[in-house]
Amino acid sequence: MYESFVNRIEEIGCPYLENAPLGKYSSIQVGGTCRYAVWPENTDQIKKLIASAKEIDMPYYILGNCTNILVPDDGVNGLIILLGKSGTNFHQISLIDDTTIHCEAGVSLQEVCMFALKHGLKGLEFAYGIPASIGGAIYMNAGAFEVEIKDVVTECTFIDENGNLVTFLNPDLQFSYRHSYFHDHSCVIISANIHLEKGNREEIKEKMDTFLNRRIAKQPLEYPSAGSTFKRPGGAYAAKLIDDSGLKGYTVGGAMVSNKHCGFVINYDNATSKDVIALVEHIQKVVAEKTGYHLECEMIIM
Ligand SMILES: Cc1cc2nc3c(=O)[nH]c(=O)nc-3n(C[C@H](O)[C@H](O)[C@H](O)COP(=O)(O)OP(=O)(O)OC[C@H]3O[C@@H](n4cnc5c(N)ncnc54)[C@H](O)[C@@H]3O)c2cc1C
Repeated sequence: MYESFVNRIEEIGCPYLENAPLGKYSSIQVGGTCRYAVWPENTDQIKKLIASAKEIDMPYYILGNCTNILVPDDGVNGLIILLGKSGTNFHQISLIDDTTIHCEAGVSLQEVCMFALKHGLKGLEFAYGIPASIGGAIYMNAGAFEVEIKDVVTECTFIDENGNLVTFLNPDLQFSYRHSYFHDHSCVIISANIHLEKGNREEIKEKMDTFLNRRIAKQPLEYPSAGSTFKRPGGAYAAKLIDDSGLKGYTVGGAMVSNKHCGFVINYDNATSKDVIALVEHIQKVVAEKTGYHLECEMIIM
């Protein structure tokens, strides 16, 4: 049904791949292909791609570094617009005044942290080691060590639901725990400004290394995953609830509750999306029975 869409992509003129291995692009390394993956070069191309997809009722998704998603085993029969590390567009980063960094949506948090370090700016150290793109980090309000992206973003420019390029200041972005305005509005984050403070380079580097080492010590980074599978329920920690429920190391097919950090479902051995979902549901059921807490998925199941 969507065969002729390839002609439209070629008219628009951006790089694309048909039947692209979307699961392989994801950090958990699970799931099938997508009908079309595109790497737009500018906002005009994004607007045209979305308008064209809407015309034929083809589903479309905007993705960054694919570190918080689970792709279905039978793939996605639609358009995937990729702005993160699998491409090279939307990767500009610059200093707009002494303490403000402007970055496009495809820049990784890692790159912004290194840029901040180079310019002696502190306040973003918490993000060192979160494998997100700026777009994904803002969408998810990514955070760690009691700090979130909402604490440093001053404004964000995006394509809104009517195809207009608009800029919102921080309060309008409606950030809350792992949530932003973009959860309730279908938009494309294009760029953001991040405000930091002047600091001492050695101290910044030391803090970044400390945070990174804590991740290496505690997280199962040696296995593919989508990070913490569940949100932190109020008043408790998902990992502890899962551990207390006796689920450490529990497996379904190739998916496993990490022995190192129970909050991570890892792709232990060629897991399928079905395995991961069955394990997630099992964890939710057992934890609810044993502790009374409902664990909400943080990983986005496409
Ligand atoms: C090892 C590991 C450790 C992690 N540690 C942390 C952590 O400490 N803290 C934390 O918060 N998260 C963590 N994560 C999860 C993940 O990195 C974050 O949720 C991150 O914000 C996702 O960014 P992304 O670019 O990969 O987004 P994707 O996974 O590509 O997309 C996530 C969501 O954002 C939307 N999105 C992405 N880009 C755009 C855009 N430009 N415009 C509109 N919507 C967009 C997508 O549609 C999707 O709904 C971890 C993940 C891994 C694998």
